[in-house]
Amino acid sequence: MIDLPKTADAVVVGGGVMGASAVYHLALKGCKRVVLLERNSLFGQESTGKCAGGIRYQFATEINIRLSLLSLPMLDRFEEELGQAIDLRRCGYLFLLTREEDVKAFRANVALQHRLGVMTEWLTGDEVRSRLRLIQLDDVLAATWYPKDGLADPNGVVQGYLNAARRLGATCLTDVEVTGIRKERGRICGVETKYGEITTSIVLNATGPWAARLGEMIGVDIPVVPVRRQIAVTTPVQQLPPDFPFIIDFEKNLYFHREGPAILTGMSNTNEPPSFNQQVDREWELVHFEAAMARMPLLENVGLSSRWAGLYEVSPDAHPLLGKVPEVEGFYIINGFSGHGFMHGPACGLLLAEEILDGRAHTLDSTSLRLSRFREGKPVVEYNVV
Ligand SMILES: Cc1cc2nc3c(=O)[nH]c(=O)nc-3n(C[C@H](O)[C@H](O)[C@H](O)COP(=O)(O)OP(=O)(O)OC[C@H]3O[C@@H](n4cnc5c(N)ncnc54)[C@H](O)[C@@H]3O)c2cc1C
Repeated sequence: MIDLPKTADAVVVGGGVMGASAVYHLALKGCKRVVLLERNSLFGQESTGKCAGGIRYQFATEINIRLSLLSLPMLDRFEEELGQAIDLRRCGYLFLLTREEDVKAFRANVALQHRLGVMTEWLTGDEVRSRLRLIQLDDVLAATWYPKDGLADPNGVVQGYLNAARRLGATCLTDVEVTGIRKERGRICGVETKYGEITTSIVLNATGPWAARLGEMIGVDIPVVPVRRQIAVTTPVQQLPPDFPFIIDFEKNLYFHREGPAILTGMSNTNEPPSFNQQVDREWELVHFEAAMARMPLLENVGLSSRWAGLYEVSPDAHPLLGKVPEVEGFYIINGFSGHGFMHGPACGLLLAEEILDGRAHTLDSTSLRLSRFREGKPVVEYNVV
């Protein structure tokens, strides 16, 4: 039987990286009676557990780069501050560019990154060919490379935050689905579950791909749709060097990185319609594997050890939706990360805790990410979505 608290200062709904980071930062800032509710029987098994673990500074908008500048150093300090290993690997991200229009766009991205202190390297086609083995690079016009990008373990990050939050007094429960949210006179007053209600004046929607459904419970339209994305991991690849980078073939939306002794690869189907379908699409898998073998021919000689599909939580401008929702006092959102939420989870949990407890996020100005930007006609545009 689940022992549900009767009241809470704040309820966080969803136990992926966003909920975990937010509950930890709320508890750290002194909000002791904070409760996190996850409907699955384990935390972090949805988008967060199914993600590729990539962390990068290389983005095309100032706000995304600034989120990385805040978030990635938090991952650097994670093990020391929270006592949880997260298998941080600075293997670097290498974007391969094969179209002139991407070369032009990435030149502008690199200029922006440099202005913000992210000293991405620009490589000509010949430079990248002279540096990289194992990859077919004949058609590569240029590449961008930043050695401080890399990988971390999503499960470690979720567990680290939740354990630390519990040590600070937070209650984090699995197997509890929020089935309703109560409001009175435009204010949040509680959440409903099959184990009873929790009275609270603050609810944070951290339900990832299900964000719109939670919004519907109180009549708030959250423009986030679920979109299937899939991954495959090979059997061990003998020739793989330990410093093999995270490689993105930008034109094809195709990526590879080292996963233990093997290769993890993914390729986004840009025609995938929104749905909650998490079955592996075998037809798309064939398209993916053909493209992967063309780029990395030695994959023809390895087997498949695992494959899975998960959901991106996609917003109209591929940027997150952060902060209070003006229509309902006490309702906050941390949604819509569109394929790069794992890496921004640490920063965004902190920013939401600041907004909830102090009235505004002060470590970083995140007002450009408020939900009302769509109504106001001020979307943010990001070119580097994979
Ligand atoms: C294949 C793939 C690869 C990716 N690769 C990367 C990458 O390399 N780098 C990167 O930064 N990001 C990546 N992402 C994106 C990243 O995984 C997400 O942006 C991030 O994990 C979102 O975290 P979240 O906590 O919002 O969502 P989730 O992890 O999905 O957590 C939401 C939780 O809410 C729970 N929930 C939903 N409704 C309710 C309810 N009513 N009551 C209680 N609980 C509820 C769900 O069960 C779920 O556990 C990838 C995603 C996918 C699918």
